[in-house]
Amino acid sequence: MEGRMTVRLAAKDTTDHTDLHQMRNEIHSTTYPLVPGREVWGEIVELGSEVKNLKAGNKVGLGCIAWSCGECSSFLSKLEQYCSKKIPTVNGTYQDGTLTHGGFSSAMVVHQSFVVRIPEKLAPEQAAPLLCAGVTAYSPLKQFLNGSNKLLRGGILGLGGVGHLGVTVAKAMGYHVTVDKLFH
Ligand SMILES: [Zn+2]
Repeated sequence: MEGRMTVRLAAKDTTDHTDLHQMRNEIHSTTYPLVPGREVWGEIVELGSEVKNLKAGNKVGLGCIAWSCGECSSFLSKLEQYCSKKIPTVNGTYQDGTLTHGGFSSAMVVHQSFVVRIPEKLAPEQAAPLLCAGVTAYSPLKQFLNGSNKLLRGGILGLGGVGHLGVTVAKAMGYHVTVDKLFH
C-alpha cells in the first residue's frame, strides 16, 4: 500500500505492562512467536509514494494499534480504537494471516495513519512511554479539559507507569493534581 513506510528500530522501544502480560500469556490470548513492544520509536528508512509529510530520517512513533479497516466512521473520526477490525501492534494478525510484531523487531512496515512525528530533541526513552501509557493518561485529561479555563482538579489513582505520566501531563495542562498512592 502506498501509504506505508519502513521504519528501522534500534531496540529503543520500552516494554509496558501489557507486553509483560502477553509475553507470559497471562491474558490467555498470546500467539507465539511473540515480539513485544507497543511503544515504538523508530527512524524512517523508506516511504511509499503517498506519504507526503514525512521523509527518510524522520523519527516517528507508533502506539498499540497498527491498522484498522481504513473506512468506517470510527477510523474517519480518528477513533480507530473503536473500529471492530483494528489490528494491534503486538499479538495481532494482518488480513493476509501474518502476525504483527512489535517494536523489539529490527524493522517494521507501518501505515502513515498510525504514526506520529517525534521531535528530534525528544530522546527515544522519553518519547516511547508517551505512545501507550502517555496517551492513556492524556486522553481523559484532554477530554475533561475541553477548552475550559477553570481550575480543574485531577485525581490520579496509583503512581505506577500510567499514573506517573498522568501526573506529569495533568500538571502541564494546569490541573490541580491529587495522587492516591494507596490505590492498587
Ligand atoms: Zn473500521
